Amino acid sequence: MKMNRHQNLRSRFDKAARRQADASVQNLVSLEMNRYQYLKSFTDETAASLTDTYVQLAGVVKESIVDGPGFRLVVFAQGCPHRCLGCHNPETHLRLGGTIWSVADLVDMYQAFDLHRGITLSGGEPFLQAAPLAALAKKIKECSGDVITYTGYTYAHLKRLAEEDEAIRNLLEETDLLIDGPFILKLRSLNLPFRGSSNQTLIAFSKKGECLKQEIEDL
Ligand code: SF4
Repeated sequence: MKMNRHQNLRSRFDKAARRQADASVQNLVSLEMNRYQYLKSFTDETAASLTDTYVQLAGVVKESIVDGPGFRLVVFAQGCPHRCLGCHNPETHLRLGGTIWSVADLVDMYQAFDLHRGITLSGGEPFLQAAPLAALAKKIKECSGDVITYTGYTYAHLKRLAEEDEAIRNLLEETDLLIDGPFILKLRSLNLPFRGSSNQTLIAFSKKGECLKQEIEDL
C-alpha cells in the first residue's frame, strides 16, 4: 500500500528513533562492561594483595643502633598484656591501634638499606602476633639477617604455650636471640645493654644467636 506524505514522515521518524534507542542501549551496555571490567580488575588486585601477610605495629624504625648489635630494622608490635609498671612504651598496650603493615613492605624496607644486619621484634608483645612475625623473621633470615625477639613472657612460659600453639613455636624457631621477661621496675638496671631490668635474660637459639649474645655481654 502506498504511504501518504504524513505516513512516510512518521515511518522515517520511527526508524530514526529506533536507531537512536539502539545506540543508547549499546552505549549503556558498553559503559556497564567498562564498569564491570574496572571493578573486576580492582577486586582481582585486592584479592591478590590479600595473599600477603599483615602485622599490626605501633611503629617501625629502620637503621636503628639502639635495639641490638649493628644496624637493625625494629618493629614494635601493637598490643601487650603484661602492663609492666614503668613501661616505656605504654602506647603499645592496647591491641587496637597502630598501623597495619604488610610483611612484603617491611622486607622491602629492610633490603633498601645495605647495612642492615638483622631485625628486632619488640613491642608491645611480639608473641601476640606470632604468626605474621614468624613469617617476617623467616624472610629476614632468607636475606641473611639475624633475628632478636623481645618478649614480656619468660621462656619457660613460652615453651608451655608453644606446646599448643604452632605460631608461637614457629616464632621461637625463627628467633636467633630471645630477650625474655617483663620489665620489673625494682630490678631496673642501666648497666645491662639492651635490657631494662636484671630479670631479663639473653637466650641464644642458634650460632648467630650465640654471636649476638656474646657481643651484648662484651659491651
Ligand atoms: S612487656 Fe614491654 S611493652 Fe609490655 S608492658 Fe612490659 S615493658 Fe611494656
